[in-house]
Amino acid sequence: MAGTGPGARAEVDAVVVGAGPNGLTAAVTLARAGLAVHVYEAEATVGGGARTAELTLPGFHHDVCSAVHPLGAGSPAFRELGLEEHGLTWVEPPLPLAHPFPDGSAAVLARSAEETAASLVGGAAPGGAARDRAAYLRLVRPFLGRWWDALAPDVLRAPLAGPPRHPLLLARFGLRAAAPAALLARVFRGERARGLLAGLAAHVIAPLGSPATGGVALLFALAAHDVGWPFPRGGSQAVSDALAARLRALGGRIETGHPVASLAELPPARAYLLDVMPEDLAALAGDRLPERFAAGLRRYAHGPGVFKIDYALSGPVPWRAGECARAGTVHLGPTIGEIGAALRAVYRGEAPAVPFLIAAQPSLFDGTRAPDGRHVLWVYGHVPNGWRGDLTGAIERQIERFAPGFGERVLARAAAGPAEIESRDRNNAGGDIAAGRCDRLRLLVRPRPAIVPYATPDRSVYLCSSATPPGPGVHGMCGYHAARTALRRVFGITSGE
Ligand SMILES: Cc1cc2nc3c(=O)[nH]c(=O)nc-3n(C[C@H](O)[C@H](O)[C@H](O)COP(=O)(O)OP(=O)(O)OC[C@H]3O[C@@H](n4cnc5c(N)ncnc54)[C@H](O)[C@@H]3O)c2cc1C
Repeated sequence: MAGTGPGARAEVDAVVVGAGPNGLTAAVTLARAGLAVHVYEAEATVGGGARTAELTLPGFHHDVCSAVHPLGAGSPAFRELGLEEHGLTWVEPPLPLAHPFPDGSAAVLARSAEETAASLVGGAAPGGAARDRAAYLRLVRPFLGRWWDALAPDVLRAPLAGPPRHPLLLARFGLRAAAPAALLARVFRGERARGLLAGLAAHVIAPLGSPATGGVALLFALAAHDVGWPFPRGGSQAVSDALAARLRALGGRIETGHPVASLAELPPARAYLLDVMPEDLAALAGDRLPERFAAGLRRYAHGPGVFKIDYALSGPVPWRAGECARAGTVHLGPTIGEIGAALRAVYRGEAPAVPFLIAAQPSLFDGTRAPDGRHVLWVYGHVPNGWRGDLTGAIERQIERFAPGFGERVLARAAAGPAEIESRDRNNAGGDIAAGRCDRLRLLVRPRPAIVPYATPDRSVYLCSSATPPGPGVHGMCGYHAARTALRRVFGITSGE
């Protein structure tokens, strides 16, 4: 389309700044509509939060940011793009998630809702309650098998984006999903179910009393039952490489190692889509945006940071609970009380004494990730934004609590506090991996209350990062919706909606 019609002056039709999952999805969505698209990426490789690198020793392939992809495997945008044709293969562990307890037992989030429900009963200390089995099934059953095809398109978009496709199902989901996790947990009697639910909700890094955190837990549980929590073979870089290959096949161009400081330095284009944080949108756009709007973007609130450690191990993690050896992801923080306390601490500005940890062990199920018999482990806990301390000791004490002897298997570790997390990807401001605070409905209403949150007062400038709905995660839906908005508003293209 470049060089024709009203945009004849433009070298390209659209420019995308940032080759994260959302920037790349936006670029592919535009290119599929026949536009000439050019992407500029600051880092040397594409992918942003979906990259893989040898962070410790040669032959050990660690996910720099995202590792586990329940949202990617079922993303309506990714499904449309046929990424499997460009080398993406999902690896599915036998169990999506294990949630161990100090007595050596574990609750599990399995592909089957029944297996999950059964694991909520029994155990020693803390125990599960028999009635929680039925309570779990009552919670998820109305949505089983309906999540990705019926609910996902309505949930993974801006809240005011128009009438839902499945209003009754969405209303039913919304009644449960609007609840804070702390309230939703009251449908259970035992610590096993409450702990499992709290661990799922903690992925958004908001206090468990925050609205809609129950919905996050429900979303992750339904994703496990409907699509699993898979890893891309070879690491999360495979998602980004497949998106980049799809873009190039459509004629799009990507320039890496090119940080953009101002839109003025970019080639003329009819649309600019920015996979950046709101304050960076204000900086890049300069006086293209009214000062009041830009000032609002500069005030955008970031959430807590993370402290992450990637390990090269001489063998698998010696988990006490056998279920953990079959799980791709393991949550370490047994009870809702402990998980809630860790989240409250970071919101008070303190590092938790006992962190809640999210761990992923891809090499158990994907032999390409580490040399024969060796393994990688990816683990992070939450800390205050910009925190400068070292959480390594607390993290390793928490792992040893559930896997005695872990320390003896460590060959090398790469620890990254908030500053290092930000230096790996400038969108992770102060170590914030969720592109903004997620408490008090900020997950849904971002970057500011607006019917079309992707648009700005300048008709040619759009925000497409996870600081827009539906928020963080490798799913590309922010980029997809931003691109569709630009296609409609700038190019008059509405087909396929
Ligand atoms: C430690 C960690 C663990 C995570 N775990 C998971 C997980 O297991 N599963 C999951 O689904 N998600 C996870 N996430 C979140 C996920 O990575 C992000 O939500 C997702 O990557 C956001 O995509 P994005 O395209 O909006 O932004 P990003 O992935 O951050 O990409 C933005 C890109 O834009 C580039 N950029 C920014 N500004 C400029 C500029 N001015 N000029 C040029 N380029 C620029 C950046 O270099 C970057 O490449 C994790 C994140 C982190 C950090």
